[in-house]
Amino acid sequence: HVKQKGRNGWAIYTPEMEALVTSAAGILQDLPLALEQHQFELWFQPKYTAGDHALTGFEALLRWRHPEQGLLLPGVFLQALEDTGLIIPVGNWVIQQACFQLHQWKQQGHPEWSLAINLSPTQFEQHDIVDIVSESLERYNLSPTQLTLEITESVAFKNLSRSVEILNTFSEAGIIVSIDDFGTGYSNMLMLKSLPARELKIDRVFIKDIGENSKNMKIVSTIIDIAHSMNMRVVAEGIETPEQELLLTRMGCGVLQGFLYAKPIPANRIPELIQRDSIVKQLKAVSPLAPQ
Ligand code: C2E
Ligand code: MG
Ligand code: MG
Ligand code: MG
Repeated sequence: HVKQKGRNGWAIYTPEMEALVTSAAGILQDLPLALEQHQFELWFQPKYTAGDHALTGFEALLRWRHPEQGLLLPGVFLQALEDTGLIIPVGNWVIQQACFQLHQWKQQGHPEWSLAINLSPTQFEQHDIVDIVSESLERYNLSPTQLTLEITESVAFKNLSRSVEILNTFSEAGIIVSIDDFGTGYSNMLMLKSLPARELKIDRVFIKDIGENSKNMKIVSTIIDIAHSMNMRVVAEGIETPEQELLLTRMGCGVLQGFLYAKPIPANRIPELIQRDSIVKQLKAVSPLAPQ
């Protein structure tokens, strides 16, 4: 069961893993029809301001409801979408669907919620991407500042001058750009200085053991300070514990997102989330009865 694993060396594949790989390949054969068969869904993970725990909006995360396999995460199919070019039509659907959702929330009395969507490398390089986003915003009569586009720093860094150009057209159109997974790629000061991005999302790997790892703590606190000095907003992703929340809040990180608050949920469960949040707030308000 030994197979060559790229250029990195060797890996052992058990029969179980073989079966997994084969079934994943089987699933991916169904990918070209998934869009027209309406099998994609957007799920939403809330983001909160640090300190007062106010809901600022959501990040849209793609899900594929496979007829036999059930709900699949991007980890299973995103690379295949990229490799086949299907990411373009699917990504355009995401943009469209995100704007529709913002429109719905406005109708339901929440014009203040923002929504972030993720742009893949191929989408980011699409020559008419700015027009596609702008047209979608116009169709639903939305302010461009309601939508945030998340691109990973490795995408931005691949061709820095071209990225600056694209990001400039986004900012001219009033669309907020966020650098996702910051710290994992080729992050450097030149990039931070050059990119006209309004927001920076610190990757989960730095947040994960921030309480035990003083180096990560220093890295994160330095990233936050530099970002602020450049007038960027900072979001921490992957907050899972109250300790992480406390540390990030103390360091001045503005916005928090993670399983501590909520996993991604479908839009129809958002009212439930709002209700839970308001109960939590009321409980916190009476909590001074804590032991002395
Ligand atoms: P990302 O943009 O960095 O999104 C955050 C991922 O971390 C999501 O995984 C989310 O469910 C997960 N996450 C959030 N909070 C926590 C936490 O506290 N703990 C842990 N362990 N995980 C947390 P998901 O939904 O599986 O998405 C994975 C990646 O797929 C995303 O990473 C993004 O790069 C990509 N992606 C998702 N939706 C889309 C899309 O519509 N278009 C494109 N191009 N990429 C997408
Ligand atoms: Mg993201
Ligand atoms: Mg991220
Ligand atoms: Mg990530």
